[in-house]
Amino acid sequence: SSVIKDLKGRLDGKVAIITGAGSGIGFESAILFAREGANVIAADINLQSAEAVVERIKEKFPLNVLRRTVAYKVDVSKEDEVKKLVEFTLKEFGKLNIMFNNAGIMHPHDDNCINTDEKVWDLTMNINLKGVWYGCKWAIDAMRKNKDNKGGSIINTASFVGLMGAATPQIAYTASKGAVIALSRELAVTHARENIRVNSLCPGPLRTPLLMDFLNTDEKKNRRLVHVPIGRFGEPVEQAQAALFLASDESSYITGTELKVDGGLTAAY
Ligand code: NAD
Repeated sequence: SSVIKDLKGRLDGKVAIITGAGSGIGFESAILFAREGANVIAADINLQSAEAVVERIKEKFPLNVLRRTVAYKVDVSKEDEVKKLVEFTLKEFGKLNIMFNNAGIMHPHDDNCINTDEKVWDLTMNINLKGVWYGCKWAIDAMRKNKDNKGGSIINTASFVGLMGAATPQIAYTASKGAVIALSRELAVTHARENIRVNSLCPGPLRTPLLMDFLNTDEKKNRRLVHVPIGRFGEPVEQAQAALFLASDESSYITGTELKVDGGLTAAY
């Protein structure tokens, strides 16, 4: 118990699932959540990358006996896999306090309204929207059963494009993210009395492979940056810091909101 007192982490003793933990926002969040004392289930469709984040955490925080981090392979677009991920978490850790539904894709296809292809549309919706729904559904089911500190915090990664139109065509992606925000608000309202908080994280444009592959010329990059008052792309760790706040009890009165972490983009005209 003396170790517990010494930890003073912002997520001490909590159990957190992070999807898309193998890269970008999820990767940085896994490290940050673990640093703050959470047990982290680093879930990703790419098991190797999830294992790499677990290795990184073990290197960085070798002496913490209370925290455990495990890698888990999941395709969030398959409900049975998401259900099993939550069941695994309850079996291994006994409870679920934090669900960070962060996995998402932006297909590098010409995704404008006329040209977008139905396969791209369905794939985008299945991962970005249905994946979030499945994550919320099974997390809520688990959080209702928590014996200590009942309830929990669910964070769904949306995007600034869910709040406004993107200048570069990405219609399926934008539609999926707008729906994530709407779904999160309604779940926040319907589960508030169960002490389950649901918020969306709305990142601005980040310096990650996902976006840099999409904005693949200097012209496209500069066009996007014109709209960012801070004048640079964001870093994944800056999203992780915001997710940590929403995950922790420091945000105990915040539910049904969109936290914009976007360098001022959505404030600009
Ligand atoms: P990333 O590509 O670096 O990481 C995404 C991770 O999700 C990868 O590890 C990938 O393997 C995993 N993944 C993909 N499909 C999956 C599936 N079906 N099941 C489980 N895991 C899957 O991307 P990122 O930039 O860290 O993006 C994380 C989230 O942030 C996404 O929802 C994305 O839409 C959103 N976002 C990103 C930006 C940006 O500029 N990068 C901006 C706004 C929102």
